[in-house]
Amino acid sequence: MASLASIDAYLSSTIGDTEKLALFLDYDGTLSPISSHPDLAVMPPETKTLLTRLANCSKIYTAIISGRQADNAKSVVGIDNITYAGSHGFEIVYPDSTRYKYETPLQDKEEISNIIQALNNEVVRDGAWIESKGDVFTYHYRDTPAEIRDQLVEQARSIITRLGLTPTNAIYGLEVQPEIDWHKGHAAKYLLENKFGRDWNNSVKLIYIGDDTTDENLMEMFRGRATTFRVAASKTVKTAAGLRLASLDDVVDVLKWLEKKFC
Ligand SMILES: [Mg+2]
Repeated sequence: MASLASIDAYLSSTIGDTEKLALFLDYDGTLSPISSHPDLAVMPPETKTLLTRLANCSKIYTAIISGRQADNAKSVVGIDNITYAGSHGFEIVYPDSTRYKYETPLQDKEEISNIIQALNNEVVRDGAWIESKGDVFTYHYRDTPAEIRDQLVEQARSIITRLGLTPTNAIYGLEVQPEIDWHKGHAAKYLLENKFGRDWNNSVKLIYIGDDTTDENLMEMFRGRATTFRVAASKTVKTAAGLRLASLDDVVDVLKWLEKKFC
């Protein structure tokens, strides 16, 4: 486990004498043990008490950034005064219940509609059809005669690829969705700019703790600009974080350090 001394040294050297802290946290595997079913992943009472105190501390802005849906994250954590970014940050629920939802950029919408048009012109025939679901669509070929199916599907696949996207296989279908450049790191940046302005870096220090590859996106994006911890039992795990924490007990030690210093 990371020693208290190394936690203290890392926090002291990176946080310095800042007045404001943004404490962003993953939930599963970071605050609660990973369990067989998401409904069973419960935060230990000590962690919840500590996190509640931190969330109510005026110098700290607290957010959970989770792969869970935002409302689900809010209900399992169960603490007011925290901002919940769900689905890796695609949707955000603020403490006052206002919401943000990531909108697919116009150019991605156009790319999708260009592909649909090309498919309509060339391969929507012989029983094949397109089901449009907002920014995602499926090319269905279940009703296509077996003797021409393979050729038609290959043609559809090459049209989609030529126009820039990679289809995934569905049951008698090809599914296509925009390649979205949005992850936990973008969500964190959005939260910081929304709360503290574009020059947030001058007034607030970011701390992040996470245990997974989706957390590494954030750690990489804020490398050198934030205090980041990766929860991982293995000493050999590759991480962009500043310090590795071996267990959830170490996470609690970090939170205790912050409470003592800021609350
Ligand atoms: Mg996690």
